[in-house]
Amino acid sequence: MGEVVKIAVNPTIQVGGTLFTPAQLAAIGALAGEEAKIEMTPFKQLYIEVPFDRREHIVNELRNAGLEITPPGFVVKSLIACNFCKGAEEAGLETALFLNEAIAGIETPVPLKVGFAGCGLGTSEPLLKDIGIVKMRDTFDIYVGGEPKGLKASVAKRLASGISGDDLVSAITAIIDYYKANAKGKEKFSRFVDRVSLEALRRIIGTYTGETINEKAD
Ligand code: SF4
Repeated sequence: MGEVVKIAVNPTIQVGGTLFTPAQLAAIGALAGEEAKIEMTPFKQLYIEVPFDRREHIVNELRNAGLEITPPGFVVKSLIACNFCKGAEEAGLETALFLNEAIAGIETPVPLKVGFAGCGLGTSEPLLKDIGIVKMRDTFDIYVGGEPKGLKASVAKRLASGISGDDLVSAITAIIDYYKANAKGKEKFSRFVDRVSLEALRRIIGTYTGETINEKAD
């Protein structure tokens, strides 16, 4: 096949969950070609190897089919969202789309997973992600530092609550920017949170949103 590169592909965030249409799957198969390796990742993306010299064409065609394409590897993964079973408005679909647009694909020291749940039932497991967002009535709670792997697995700690939809994107991008600027090499996000402290992250959020974040450390 010659030189190949990987791309990460997923359907748009929507009511009903991670739904591909038959036409999208057909487009993936046709564009990737018979010899392509297509991997289903644990974070709801397909990794597809495509010929380097056809990458741009394939990415454009997949986007035309309504799919989202981001780089693989050391980036913020596309938002890992719930199925929005309570409906688009009640579960915060518009905010999730806006947030995903702002953060998916940002380069980071290690791959970063961000979870989003439209209610406290948290069926997308946001507390097992590096950053978890849970919609609570009309505002959002933010959790950080979930670690699902290894013998020291742990759930994320609550960083802030009562964040408005308008402030949520600023708050999350502020956390990611701070991590990028202050991580020691390829420091895992959960370790970074433990090292810099929740208080430091609350101050960072406050600087961006203009709010004073006063949560008790959990
Ligand atoms: S987190 Fe809540 S709104 Fe989202 S799918 Fe689960 S139960 Fe439904």
